[in-house]
Amino acid sequence: MDVRYLQEEFSRVFEEIPKKTNMTPQSKELLFIHLTEEVGELARQIVNEEHRKEKFDKVNLSEEFGDVFMILCVLASKYDLDLSKECEEKLVRIRKKFNLD
Ligand SMILES: [Mg+2]
Repeated sequence: MDVRYLQEEFSRVFEEIPKKTNMTPQSKELLFIHLTEEVGELARQIVNEEHRKEKFDKVNLSEEFGDVFMILCVLASKYDLDLSKECEEKLVRIRKKFNLD
């Protein structure tokens, strides 16, 4: 699966969820707050690996990466941004900046 497909599908799913539940659609602001929550959950696992080894859960670490990516995709879509295009352009810029092939 490519980034464009995932961004479209995550966004579609997030539009469908309020129709199937009593949840209200998430605004850009709420999505951003949700993103920071997910980043915090990812941070917790990273800290656990280093400082609270008994609480480290690699499966959950992987899930949190997915959560962060999912919310980032949905938020980017709310701004009509194409994350795939942006990532491709970013790769070109960073390769050029550091003189990489
Ligand atoms: Mg999470």
